[in-house]
Amino acid sequence: MSEVIFPGDKIASIEEYEAGHNAFDDGDMVRASTVGKKEIDSSARTAGIEHPKLSSIPKVGDIVIGTVAAVMATMMAISIDYINGKPTTSKVECICSIRNIRIRNVALVSDIVKLKVLNHLNGTIHGTVEERDLGVLFTKCRKCGSKVVSMRDAIKCTECSWTDERKLSPDFGNGDFVKLGG
Ligand SMILES: [Zn+2]
Repeated sequence: MSEVIFPGDKIASIEEYEAGHNAFDDGDMVRASTVGKKEIDSSARTAGIEHPKLSSIPKVGDIVIGTVAAVMATMMAISIDYINGKPTTSKVECICSIRNIRIRNVALVSDIVKLKVLNHLNGTIHGTVEERDLGVLFTKCRKCGSKVVSMRDAIKCTECSWTDERKLSPDFGNGDFVKLGG
């Protein structure tokens, strides 16, 4: 069983492999740019993250999981990776309003979040994280980039002890969603 790789995780050394799909090299290591399972192509000498062929546009009411691409004052943009548990490579973006959420950092860029699709407006997909089930599934420390653990509604860095807030999903820290795609 292959383990779930998160954005920024080390996949291989650049001395052995070049960055493949959904990966980049930081000058030392090949690292994942998305969430998924490791994919090593020994003939092409690339290391990356699997990118399944499925693609589609989420419908209203669908539950999607994606990577935060940008965070602005009142909204964030999410690149959708999973629709109802099925992987997608269409790289469709959705917009999520965070205007009404009284949390210091609802989510950060590169966080993995779970949303519900609210509507399609002017060609843009709008989603929400404003339900108990929805929110951040994976995040890192804003100060040092290390792993964090949840403490009620807050998170705490396991390295520097920085505490912060996110709109956490009850599924926070659980990598099982990746296996749902099958
Ligand atoms: Zn830290």
